[in-house]
Amino acid sequence: MNPGKELLRQEMMPHILCPGCGHGIVLNTLVRVLATRFSSMDQVALVAGIGCSSRIVGYIDAYTLHTTHGRALSFATGLKLSRPELTVIVITGDGDGLGIGGNHLIHAARRNLDLTCILFNNETYGMTGGQLAPTTVPHAFTTTTPYGNKEPSFDAAALLKACGATFVARGQAYRPDLLEELLNRAIAHRGFSFVDVMTDCTEYFGRKNALGGGSDLLFSQTRADEEIARDLDEWPRLRHPDGFPLREILPMGVLHEVSRPTLEEMMGLAGYEAREE
Ligand code: SF4
Repeated sequence: MNPGKELLRQEMMPHILCPGCGHGIVLNTLVRVLATRFSSMDQVALVAGIGCSSRIVGYIDAYTLHTTHGRALSFATGLKLSRPELTVIVITGDGDGLGIGGNHLIHAARRNLDLTCILFNNETYGMTGGQLAPTTVPHAFTTTTPYGNKEPSFDAAALLKACGATFVARGQAYRPDLLEELLNRAIAHRGFSFVDVMTDCTEYFGRKNALGGGSDLLFSQTRADEEIARDLDEWPRLRHPDGFPLREILPMGVLHEVSRPTLEEMMGLAGYEAREE
């Protein structure tokens, strides 16, 4: 049996994800990590904001909070400070976490609160209709950029490192084996851990940019610019009509790991040492 399947709330099925959406792979990887890491879900709380990625906490049989748009880290901060022995995992998207909730994200990292934030980065606002997100690559088409995006995009991992996160990693839906290792290390880390997960929105980002279906998008996560240039006949869809690459090549793996006192330690919170590692 697939480890983690028992953690899925069957009464919540069928799920809302579109066919080919990368979020299902990330959900599957996360429940596998939870099932192998924890003997009981009594010590685990999952907190999410709003969006297709945030919706997945409803499918996991743990303590779950589905909060308001961009505010998952505010709720998680309150929860963690009142119940420091819990393992708190925040699920957010690039629109929810970096756009609407950007302010909460950077300050949670600065405080080095001991929790894990997993950001599902599909370069668009999915649930609300495919609008431009802070991570949308330049020139890409979205609902709100019908002539192509004119703005530079955030490198979420670099931003979080600069804000003080003590563990920063990047994975992708294409590599669930690597993602599993990164999620395990992030959850084990004492301090604010952040995992930027490249996943794909077939319905909006894929369709608006004519990038193909779920498997095309997954495979395109592996393509380097030089390969795209060599392979344009085979993969013309990876370029904007004006020739710009629509898939950036980003470093994967653990990008930053340091140790400094957590906010819980600075506050001398009773019960904190009991957190399961
Ligand atoms: S709208 Fe996009 S992100 Fe949302 S479920 Fe569909 S494919 Fe996934």
